Amino acid sequence: MAYAELDGAEFVFGKAIERITEKGPVFKTSVLDENNKVIGYEEGEEQVEADSTIIAISQGPRNRLIRTTVGLEGSDKGLLIVDDSHMTTREGVFAAGDVVTGSKTVVHAVEEAKKTARAMIRYMEERKKS
Ligand SMILES: Cc1cc2nc3c(=O)[nH]c(=O)nc-3n(C[C@H](O)[C@H](O)[C@H](O)COP(=O)(O)OP(=O)(O)OC[C@H]3O[C@@H](n4cnc5c(N)ncnc54)[C@H](O)[C@@H]3O)c2cc1C
Repeated sequence: MAYAELDGAEFVFGKAIERITEKGPVFKTSVLDENNKVIGYEEGEEQVEADSTIIAISQGPRNRLIRTTVGLEGSDKGLLIVDDSHMTTREGVFAAGDVVTGSKTVVHAVEEAKKTARAMIRYMEERKKS
């Protein structure tokens, strides 16, 4: 960020994108509480004129799965907790990928999914024996 500022970039916070027009992005100004949590928006909009608009899609954990599924526990980052065998805190439910590790890559998600599939097979075979 400091380097970008040296290059002349200006950072503006507390804005929410409303839409993008031919002139550039249109923002609403966020109203924050004392903990910097967005609690609403000021009336009116601000059209920012821009030659180009870059959409940067951020990634954040979604913890709805955890909140709505009995037995699934998540970390404070909203990610699913799994043990060494890739099993979640709910018996017989396994997980892999971004929901466990947070944002990574497709290759990493596939690698973890293969390990998890093997762990699931082991789990099912052991249960079949007993
Ligand atoms: C904008 C962006 C660009 C990226 N670019 C790259 C890139 O160039 N190269 C790269 O390697 N990686 C890239 N990634 C990361 C890559 O997409 C992820 O690491 C990868 O997709 C993780 O795979 P996954 O199977 O864990 O999760 P996902 O691919 O997210 O799959 C999870 C699936 O579960 C579904 N789902 C969620 N909740 C439920 C539910 N309750 N019930 C049923 N289904 C549900 C979702 O709809 C989704 O289809 C990018 C990610 C983003 C956001």
